Amino acid sequence: MAVATRPAGEESPAPKKVTVLGSTGSIGSSTLDLIGRNPESFVVEALTANRRVDELVRQALAVRPRIAVVADEGAYQDLRAGLSGSGIEVAAGKKALVEAAQRPVDIVMAAIVGAAGLEPTMAAAKRGYTVALANKESLVCAGDLMMREVERSGGVLLPVDSEHNAIFQVLELDRIDQVEKIFLTASGGPFRTFSREQMVGVSPEQAVAHPNWSMGAKISIDSATMMNKGLELIEAVHLFKVSQDRIEILVHPQSVVHSLVAYEDGSVLAQMGTPDMRTPISYALAWPHRMRTPSQRLDLAEIAQLTFERPDSKRFPALTLAREALKTGGGAPTILNASNEVAVQAFLEGKLGFLDITRVVEETLGRIAVHQISSIADVHHLDVEARRVAGEFIAGVAA
Ligand code: NAD
Ligand code: MG
Repeated sequence: MAVATRPAGEESPAPKKVTVLGSTGSIGSSTLDLIGRNPESFVVEALTANRRVDELVRQALAVRPRIAVVADEGAYQDLRAGLSGSGIEVAAGKKALVEAAQRPVDIVMAAIVGAAGLEPTMAAAKRGYTVALANKESLVCAGDLMMREVERSGGVLLPVDSEHNAIFQVLELDRIDQVEKIFLTASGGPFRTFSREQMVGVSPEQAVAHPNWSMGAKISIDSATMMNKGLELIEAVHLFKVSQDRIEILVHPQSVVHSLVAYEDGSVLAQMGTPDMRTPISYALAWPHRMRTPSQRLDLAEIAQLTFERPDSKRFPALTLAREALKTGGGAPTILNASNEVAVQAFLEGKLGFLDITRVVEETLGRIAVHQISSIADVHHLDVEARRVAGEFIAGVAA
């Protein structure tokens, strides 16, 4: 068989219409960086942010979306003033955020952090749009519902998380039954070699300083506790419909091999690259094609050595908590996610010690009876309950 070539006439397809949810964040601004470098390939429909109006205004004036939305209604007047005379529509509030996600587009970049991204991401999925998913928490807290909605609507979910994007690039979806194992790589974070005793007094500044990746505060803390890998395990189970016993975590401090898929014939396929989220973001934006990115090129001879080790769940109990939550099923991952969000926030605010983050998650999981999740209302209810219970426990720890 001849090697497949691109069909003729596809050299300059019509620009893709894109909405970026969470445009002011780390993933959001990397997405706009790529869009800005390829103005002939993309037009922006909507940009959304929580409350960083100055940055949202700057972005909107640069990429000229049809609408800019802030989730925080208190920021509305500033946004309106900042974009007055620009011809760009403005709106504020949660409802406006969901409406922005529903505007007809070719692709929605879901890059809000946390469960706050669930409703708008779900709204885009329900419409059957192609969703580039960075917001892993929405899959963790409502994975079954989200995947069901994507299937029902005929939409597409493209993984942006570097590990899942790597798997997506090397996974032969029609041969999923011939996959023996998926290896999710983890950098191990800034405390990879720390003992539990050394982790006791670490500060938010130390925990946010990731050795390889530059990311938002929440995911940086998740990387330091390795809860990020726990969330990613749950994300992978939903995205690829593979049971958790076929997914292994592999610590790889250089962050070059972004993940691997092992097939029954003994072949192991991996995707590699320098740690720059613009590569996986570009893969989702250009899918099913590829596009050029300015990411630094991989120089393996310069790196010289790639190393791998097994994760240590004694020092990083988040991995076990995530595996157990998956096993329990129902709303357990929702509780895990919500309590982790509350604990990370408390740690960032100096109200909680680093090792207490996973303690809060474990306690919260133990204090709430898990039941089945059959609607977004169920998810919301459990999320609120878990935040309340986690908050109470934190108040007790801090007292
Ligand atoms: P970030 O904190 O830098 O940005 C978050 C964005 O979400 C901002 O635009 C913010 O305004 C918006 N936001 C926050 N709270 C909101 C709310 N309540 N309502 C509406 N909008 C809100 O986060 P990030 O690092 O860009 O991460 C975004 C998502 O992508 C997360 O789910 C993260 O796990 C995932 N992710 C990030 C990276 C990375 O390299 N940064 C890599 C893989 C996956
Ligand atoms: Mg990741």
